[in-house]
Amino acid sequence: MDRLYDVAILGAGVAGLTTAYRLRGRDIVVVEAAGHIGGRTLSKRFDDGSWANYAAQYVSSDKVKVIELADELGLALVPSGYHSDELRGNRGSAAEQAEIDRWVARLEAEMANPRPPSAPELDGISVAAWLGDAPEHVHAFFERWCGQLIFASTIETSLFGLMLLWGDQRTSAFTAEPVPRSNRGDTVFAGGTNTFTDALAKASGAELRSGESVTRVLREGEGWAVISRGPAGERTIRARQVVCALPAPVALAVIEGLPPAKVLALGAIRYGRNVATPIAVLPAGGRGTVAPSAPSRPGAVYNTNGFVLKTPGDIARDGGCYHSYVHDVHARVIWDDNVESIQSGALRAFAAQFPELAGRVHWIGFQRWEHALAQYRPGRQALQDDLEASLEGLHFCGDYVITANMDGAARSGEAAAAKVLASL
Ligand SMILES: Cc1cc2nc3c(=O)[nH]c(=O)nc-3n(C[C@H](O)[C@H](O)[C@H](O)COP(=O)(O)OP(=O)(O)OC[C@H]3O[C@@H](n4cnc5c(N)ncnc54)[C@H](O)[C@@H]3O)c2cc1C
Repeated sequence: MDRLYDVAILGAGVAGLTTAYRLRGRDIVVVEAAGHIGGRTLSKRFDDGSWANYAAQYVSSDKVKVIELADELGLALVPSGYHSDELRGNRGSAAEQAEIDRWVARLEAEMANPRPPSAPELDGISVAAWLGDAPEHVHAFFERWCGQLIFASTIETSLFGLMLLWGDQRTSAFTAEPVPRSNRGDTVFAGGTNTFTDALAKASGAELRSGESVTRVLREGEGWAVISRGPAGERTIRARQVVCALPAPVALAVIEGLPPAKVLALGAIRYGRNVATPIAVLPAGGRGTVAPSAPSRPGAVYNTNGFVLKTPGDIARDGGCYHSYVHDVHARVIWDDNVESIQSGALRAFAAQFPELAGRVHWIGFQRWEHALAQYRPGRQALQDDLEASLEGLHFCGDYVITANMDGAARSGEAAAAKVLASL
């Protein structure tokens, strides 16, 4: 007789591992396609104690669920050392700024007027359509904002989505209610963001199967069968309940027999892409070994965060890592180029900005994130109930379910665990 787990969790990102942690003590298996656990919290630790993040890094003070979990797990959150405004770009000349400020005032007036998130005037309209015949530079300002914050264009972001992103990547679109905040300010995980997911995995006590890709999920008797493919071939896992913590398009592709409303909801979730090239430099006086080694595309953009995101501390003196990436609109241009070409482009962009550090680069990472951030497309909020809905013993979580950041992922994982506990 095959083993029957209490719960099979699909995907070992923040969402899946938060579920596993909240269900600790149960008989749980977590199935993860990648060779690493943590999904988009991937990071690397260097021998000298410094680290590089390939994706999630920033724990703004409103991410209270992540902070609560970090405290429970005894993890160190250290001041991030930069202000999020640096990432979002300036507002141009005084005249341009005055016009942008007028649009910001309109946006903030919408935010002071709470309505259902699915209200057509918020959810049914793109930011570009809302801006209408505003001057080009106003469109360009919000285009940069949406690009940086959600890896999407203003034509792919609803007004509700922009309201969620405005301010400090808030957890609420409306300003009428105070947003809970930690008093620790904006932080990052000491040692890299993977320390968070590693600790969740360890504390969960769950059986972890990484390198096994889920290919099919189907109802079987009173429970579920999960078919996965890994180096050892195909395996079937049987469980009473399943928590799907996969990106929405993957969930849609692998789960059989989904009802039409769920198919519609999952199918509506689109992700912006991202190509990450974290760049690590040695302390002052060090001589790096990494330099551009291949041609890159003339005129293409290889860094869109202006290298403002970095490990805390004085990198010029002590060394550290610049968290470098390009978001969707630019990632599309270089997506299929080879790794050396993309890394070389990022190194050239780095040298142009920091000529004094270019000779100290000792490492550059690489990661293509196909499902980098779930966008808030027009019409998405109207699907909320269907996105959250469980099917018989099958629950859904992931950052696309609530808000597209680690806090949303953690909260959705916790909600899935509560549903499991209510029905086990
Ligand atoms: C460049 C970048 C920067 C970011 N910066 C921040 C930030 O500063 N702060 C913040 O809060 N958030 C940030 N985010 C967002 C944050 O990383 C995500 O919201 C969060 O980590 C998502 O967690 P998740 O568990 O929902 O998804 P994921 O981490 O994507 O987990 C899903 C898991 O499913 C696995 N999987 C996929 N297919 C299969 C399959 N067939 N079988 C088995 N497993 C499968 C994946 O490998 C993955 O591990 C950033 C994201 C990116 C890309």
